[in-house]
Amino acid sequence: MEIDRILYPIFSLGPNKRLALWTIGCQKGCYNCANPELWVKNPKKNIPVEILYHHIKQLAKNHPIEGITITGGEPLDQLDELKELLVLLNEITPDILLYTGYTLTKLTPEVVTFLKQNVAVVIDGRYIDNLNDNQAPLRGSTNQNIYYFKEEYRPIYEEYLSQGRQVQNIFYHNHLISVGISLRGK
Ligand code: SF4
Repeated sequence: MEIDRILYPIFSLGPNKRLALWTIGCQKGCYNCANPELWVKNPKKNIPVEILYHHIKQLAKNHPIEGITITGGEPLDQLDELKELLVLLNEITPDILLYTGYTLTKLTPEVVTFLKQNVAVVIDGRYIDNLNDNQAPLRGSTNQNIYYFKEEYRPIYEEYLSQGRQVQNIFYHNHLISVGISLRGK
């Protein structure tokens, strides 16, 4: 599976202390996408799912992973690997938040059923820059929808959402990067 980066602990992409993972590859070309460096596939960053999971599990032994956020890039463009990973990650925490630029209603029933069984929350839809109100928590633009597939997580997320949009600055590869939902046109 092509993965660009894994960061922990992340507080700005969902409630509690999370591990966040960015997949590589996306063909949607949304104007002012926050992560255009992840559009082009990069086989050099391909890692077998079981090894990826092994590393995450090792981390979880000494660091509480209370939630996992998967974003990109377009995670669903590596569907087979994503499915394999999701099943494994549920062993660590069922609080998995998945971003996809696809609209959920356009996905096949098989994919939606799988996501319902293996993901707590999905945020769907392309990023539309002129619908970024610089406020909507967890959503880049207001066309995106939040689906709760595990109802027990709804109150936790609603409480988190009530705190507004959050950004976290992290040193990564000697650069300061902002993790969270970007402002319009930034
Ligand atoms: S779907 Fe996401 S990663 Fe892909 S271009 Fe749009 S904002 Fe960027």
